[in-house]
Amino acid sequence: MRTKTELVYTGRYTDWTREAILAEVEKQMKPSRFQHVLRVEACSIALAKKYGASLEACSLAALLHDFAKEHDAKSMKKIVLSQALDSEMTGYGSEIMHGPVGAYHAEKVFGIMDRAILDAIRQHTIGGEVMTLIGKVLFIADYIEPGRTFTGVDEARRLAEISLDEAAYFKIEKTIIHLVKKELPIYPGTIHVYNSWIQRKVGNSE
Ligand code: GDP
Ligand code: FE
Ligand code: FE
Repeated sequence: MRTKTELVYTGRYTDWTREAILAEVEKQMKPSRFQHVLRVEACSIALAKKYGASLEACSLAALLHDFAKEHDAKSMKKIVLSQALDSEMTGYGSEIMHGPVGAYHAEKVFGIMDRAILDAIRQHTIGGEVMTLIGKVLFIADYIEPGRTFTGVDEARRLAEISLDEAAYFKIEKTIIHLVKKELPIYPGTIHVYNSWIQRKVGNSE
């Protein structure tokens, strides 16, 4: 069984059916990653129901979020440069580029124009200084889908039951700690997002 949702698209965001999107997404990646995408969609729909986001928008953002993940770095770089995205991304590899490049494909291939869906896909790896509800749903669903097993994921799942913002802040903080521990380079955009969330958090508690 490939599909776990009864969701039928209204045509509001794309002419593509959910089935046609699944077939196209499946072509872009290995089977295990496609299963991850389906789990992120199921998890996004559950969060969307809980927090009152559009199920259709969250489904689309989830299905397309890792569209570019396995594309070669050279083609991603080309898109980053031709679309005048932050050229600094090209120094941080596909992990940093696949969100923004995925958003480009969502628009070009699937005709999605909705800003919140495109931003959610664009921001899904590092988050954003400002995020919409759809963006937060995808950001958290990608982090806590049932296939994730890292230390701390249960705490992230618990926080997601209480507050999307708390869960988002947790992911932003833990990701920085993880990158430092692994001695991985941190893309400046990742730091900007952390700074803006921590400043809001401290500001709120004063
Ligand atoms: P996935 O595409 O489903 O695997 O999930 P993501 O798009 O969230 O994450 C891709 C990877 O990028 C994760 O392993 C993150 O830890 C990593 N990542 C996030 N921010 C940065 C960063 O600033 N620098 C580097 N080097 N990696 C990052
Ligand atoms: Fe991703
Ligand atoms: Fe993902």
